[in-house]
Amino acid sequence: MAYDQNNIFAMILRGDIPCDKVYEDEFALAFNDINPQAPIHALVIPKGEYVSMADFSANAPEELLNGFFRAVGQTARNLGLEKEGYRLIANTGENAHQEVPHLHFHILSGKKLGPMLSR
Ligand code: 5GP
Repeated sequence: MAYDQNNIFAMILRGDIPCDKVYEDEFALAFNDINPQAPIHALVIPKGEYVSMADFSANAPEELLNGFFRAVGQTARNLGLEKEGYRLIANTGENAHQEVPHLHFHILSGKKLGPMLSR
């Protein structure tokens, strides 16, 4: 799947539309989800044109792979979630119901989230 430069997260990365930023470094940007599914719901996206985890894991350079995963952990740390814990979700493709075609990790917390999947 080709990267769509007009997806909503590409626009956020370019600064074309605003976001409620919670963390940023040279590799990643993190911001609050516009439609939170938990008391804390942030999204972390890499600074690069990657559709999904499948694309990113196959094609991103080592430095960005490292930097992005550190940024996911740092975002959770900055949100104060290490003690209470948090859930990471990276929906990839159709079965997972990925809606935005730019890789993003959801960070969810702020309450006990229960079993992993609704049935
Ligand atoms: P997905 O279903 O692709 O894993 O998740 C996409 C997420 O992006 C959803 O949780 C949705 O609420 C969030 N989202 C969609 N558009 C925007 C937006 O313009 N700003 C922010 N902050 N989040 C968005």
